[in-house]
Parts: sequence; C-alpha cells; structure tokens
Amino acid sequence: MAAPDPKPSVTRIELPVDTRAPVGTTNAYLAGGLLVDPAARTDALDAAIGVAGAGGDETGKTAVEAIAVTHTHPDHVGAVAEYADLTGAPVIAHADHVDRFTAATGVDPDETFRDGDRVGDTPVRAVETPGHAPDHVAFAVGSIGGDSEDADGGAVDGTPRELFCGDLAVAEGSVVVGAPDGDLRDYLDSLERVRKTGYDRLYPGHGPAIDDPNVVCQRLIDHRLDRERAVLDAVEAGASDVEGAVDGAYEKDLTGVADLARATVVAHLEKLLAEGRIGREWAGRIERDPPVK
Ligand SMILES: [Zn+2]
Repeated sequence: MAAPDPKPSVTRIELPVDTRAPVGTTNAYLAGGLLVDPAARTDALDAAIGVAGAGGDETGKTAVEAIAVTHTHPDHVGAVAEYADLTGAPVIAHADHVDRFTAATGVDPDETFRDGDRVGDTPVRAVETPGHAPDHVAFAVGSIGGDSEDADGGAVDGTPRELFCGDLAVAEGSVVVGAPDGDLRDYLDSLERVRKTGYDRLYPGHGPAIDDPNVVCQRLIDHRLDRERAVLDAVEAGASDVEGAVDGAYEKDLTGVADLARATVVAHLEKLLAEGRIGREWAGRIERDPPVK
C-alpha cells in the first residue's frame, strides 16, 4: 500500500482568556496554514506563526495562510482582527453566519466556506457541528467522509483523521449547551456525526487533546441524556417553571454556575417541547436568557 500523504503537523498554543471553561485557557491551533481560534495575542502565538513580537510590524511571510474560528463566542475570537492585520492572511467564515462573525470579531470575512469545503487554500476542511452555538464548525485534517466516495481531493485512505473540534467536546467534564445559543438536538447530532466518522484524535478548544474520540463522544452523549432524564423527571414530579426544573434536575450546589445550569435546563426543556415530551404550556414558561459562553 502506498504511503499516505504527509499530514500537516499540528501546533497547539494555549492562550490565557477570560473563559468559563474550567481550564481557564483557550487553545489556538495551527495546521496546514490554518490558524484556528486566535483568542488572544501572545508572544507564544506570535512565535508559532512567525510574526515579529515587537512593534507588531509586518515582516513578510508567516506560517498563516488563512484564519478561521470554530464559533464566535467571545473566548474564541479576541485576536482575529489583530492576527489578520499582522499576517495579511484571509479571514474565512461560515457562509451562513457572516453577520454574526463580523459582529463578534470586527472583521468582514474575505471568504466563506460551507460544510465539507476546504478553508481557503489550506488542506483543512470545515465540518458543520452546530449545537454548542448555531455557527459552530470543526476543522478536519485528512479524510472527513465516512465513506470513501466522499473522500475527494487530497483525502487518502489511511491518513490519520484529526479534528479541531472547538467546544463540541472536552477530554474531561462537559461543555455548556445552553439557551439561547445552544441547541441540544443539534449538539447530539453533531457528537454522533463526529463519533461515526471515526477520527483518530480531537483537538478541543479547551484542555488537552482527546485520543479516544469514540469513548469521549459517547460519554458526552450519555451525559446529555442523563441530564435530560433528570429534567423530565423534575417536570413529571410536578415542576411548573424553569426554577423548579433546575432545582429538580441538579443535586449539587449551583453557586457560581446558576446561570449556566438555568440555560442548560432551558435548552433541555426546548428539546423536550420540540419532541412533544412535555406539555405545550412549557412554551410560555421558557424564558429566554442572555447568551452564555
Ligand atoms: Zn463557546
């Protein structure tokens, strides 16, 4: 069997960012010329991509051929504009979410992508994975099709498949899927899509790489279904508003995370309502809260 094409190496740079993710940092990645999630400007990221640290002057060639984000939450986009200026690289956004992208980053994208497209001139492809946020995408290195006939252009059997998965998954714990940005049905579908594709490794937006994607995706799916069961139990036990459902669905002390718990429960109630598993009266009880990261 012929040797697979060499895959681009992956560089991870951990950035100190105001995030509610437990690790307190956001990961930027560089692979195949694509800079993913430049959430803050740091010397380490400057060095990784080859821009001058001092003075911020443009010194010509850098390792960056395109800039994109997994989604537009504030803890992923902070230095998009700055690195676009520094590198001169095109900024590329999902075609369906350009306005949201511009509002979050202050940058009008130079190009757009859709599901399965290469991102600019890089070998990295976009994989729609909504749920954590409506504009959430992941970026795949190597073949992304589950079937060989999908594996067009550059995809080689045997190529390790790796995915920059943003806030779809984390190695430990779970990510927030909360109203109004979060959609649990989309989130579960996205996890299932990634699990089925069979990536060799996931690179999340927060924390270390995930070397057992199948196990972690299944754990995250099970976690959501367990929480859904708890919310449904709370409703069936007589909860008549969101507060009651939160109280019933969580046993732990929610000090400091009450807003996240509430947003999570609302997202579960929205799913249950859409599926006809709780009464229509819940439509009026679900109040929309401000977005959480
Ligand atoms: Zn996020």
